[in-house]
Amino acid sequence: MNPLKERTLILVKPDGVRRALIGEVIARFERVGLKVVGIKMVNPDRAFIEKHYPSSKEWTVGLGQKSLSDYEQYNLDPVEQVGTKDPYEVGKLVTGWLFDYMSSGPSVAIVFEGNQAVAMGRKIVGNTIPSFAPTGTIRGDFAKDSPILANLRKRGVKNVVHASGSIEEAEFEISHWFTKKELVEYKRADEEAMFA
Ligand code: ADP
Repeated sequence: MNPLKERTLILVKPDGVRRALIGEVIARFERVGLKVVGIKMVNPDRAFIEKHYPSSKEWTVGLGQKSLSDYEQYNLDPVEQVGTKDPYEVGKLVTGWLFDYMSSGPSVAIVFEGNQAVAMGRKIVGNTIPSFAPTGTIRGDFAKDSPILANLRKRGVKNVVHASGSIEEAEFEISHWFTKKELVEYKRADEEAMFA
C-alpha cells in the first residue's frame, strides 16, 4: 500500500464555476501537495447526479437533520417552513433541491492524489454548512449560504465545492466521474522535497 496514492474526488459545483472560483479551489489543494491526476468540465444531467449521491435513508435523514438544526437554532418552526418536522421527509425535499442544483450547470471534476487525500480534502473544504466552516477553509472563505435560506428558496445549499467523505466514497465517485484512461501518472517537481 502506497499512502501517496490515495485519491479523492473534488467538484467545483455550479455556483463555484459561475463565481469564477475554479482556479482558487485548485490552488488550495495544490499548495498542500495534492496532485491533479484527472480534471474535466462536466455538464451533468439529473440522473448522473442522482447516482453520485448515496441516497440511502441514513444520508437523507442526515440532510434533513442539517435543516432541522438550523431551524432550531433560529427558533423557526420546520412545519411552517417546509411543512414537516420529520427528518426523513425534510431530507427527501432537500435531496430533490440538491439534485436540481447540482444539475443546473457545469461543474469541474478533479481527482487529487496524495497522502491522506480524502481527509485533507474534507479539511480544506470545511463543514457542509458554511456558518460552521472555519475561515481558511474554502466554504468558510467563499460561502455564506444556509439551509434556512436555501430551503426558503427551494434549492440546495450553495457551498462551492464537493469533497469525497471517505476512501470508499472516493473510489466510487472517481469511477462515476472518470474512466481509467482519463487518470494519469506523473511526478511533481516538489514531491521529493515534501515526501521523500
Ligand atoms: P457534503 O457535501 O459536505 O458531503 P452532504 O453529503 O450531507 O454534505 O450534502 C450534500 C450537499 O447537499 C451539500 O454539500 C449541500 O450543497 C447540500 N445540502 C446539505 N444539507 C442541506 C440542507 N439542509 N438544505 C439544503 N441543501 C443541503
